[in-house]
Amino acid sequence: MALLFALVIDPVASEDRRESYSDTFTAVDPCGPVLPLGELSAQRGDGVFESIGVVDGHAQEVGPHLERLAQSAQLVDLPAPNAAQWREAIARVAAEAGAGESVIKLILSRGLDEGSAPTSWITLASAPDNALARTEGVRVVTLERGYQLDVPGRAPWLLLGAKTLSYAVNMAAIREAKRRGADDAVFVTSDGYVLEAPTASVILRVGDRFVTPEPHAGILHGTTQLSLFAHLGRRGFSTAYEAVLLSDLKNADAAWLLSSVRLAAPISAVDGAAKRVDRALTDELNAYLLSPRH
Ligand code: PLP
Repeated sequence: MALLFALVIDPVASEDRRESYSDTFTAVDPCGPVLPLGELSAQRGDGVFESIGVVDGHAQEVGPHLERLAQSAQLVDLPAPNAAQWREAIARVAAEAGAGESVIKLILSRGLDEGSAPTSWITLASAPDNALARTEGVRVVTLERGYQLDVPGRAPWLLLGAKTLSYAVNMAAIREAKRRGADDAVFVTSDGYVLEAPTASVILRVGDRFVTPEPHAGILHGTTQLSLFAHLGRRGFSTAYEAVLLSDLKNADAAWLLSSVRLAAPISAVDGAAKRVDRALTDELNAYLLSPRH
């Protein structure tokens, strides 16, 4: 993804209220050297982030993304981000986006030292072409996450519910899926429960019911899934958060991976077994997800 624009944001306490925060933003060359080599985000992946879908210059679901950024910051003991400052910075960056789809990334890093001011920046990039994933679907393989469903609650230091910059495991899972001839992975606990994909939430349709794994400390609560469940509810479907077994995924009438940039990608196979792709419903879900959302 080519970076198009970037802003560095000076830290401002969350309770600091101002009319404008524009003097705390510095536009930087998105391809130039900006961060010192000692940055703990680069050295340890010590920080948190968000990826926001942008459609025709409109940043989608800014509120839920800022809420999740604050939650991730709290889980890793970083100072609470100032929501008004970040909202203004996102609007400033979105104004640089042209027509079509792009991605805004918010990054909040530990900074140079434990205890020093955090470093924050926002980037704008063009979005990859997700047309095929949205229409033909994605073949997934299930990969063991290596722990039981109750472990994240018992071991919060594993940070499994935070969107940290340490995505090396998630990327390794996608490479493993590709080695196995699939397009993406779905993580499953060692006791057989479906969690999420490395960069997406999982939802299933069983008849007129839509189900997603209960958001708990082990998975991220997806902003796309939240928004889509509200839409499905308005359309008269029932939606539920449940413990989802691997067999539920295999037996579901249909299933999708949901995320802010790729949006709804129907699952076309699970571990080599084909799954029917509902093109008409998927097109409708993606039309909703591409419409301006707040
Ligand atoms: N789960 C993980 C691990 C993710 O990385 C993501 C998105 O990046 C999601 C779920 C979906 O979240 P969202 O819909 O907010 O993009």
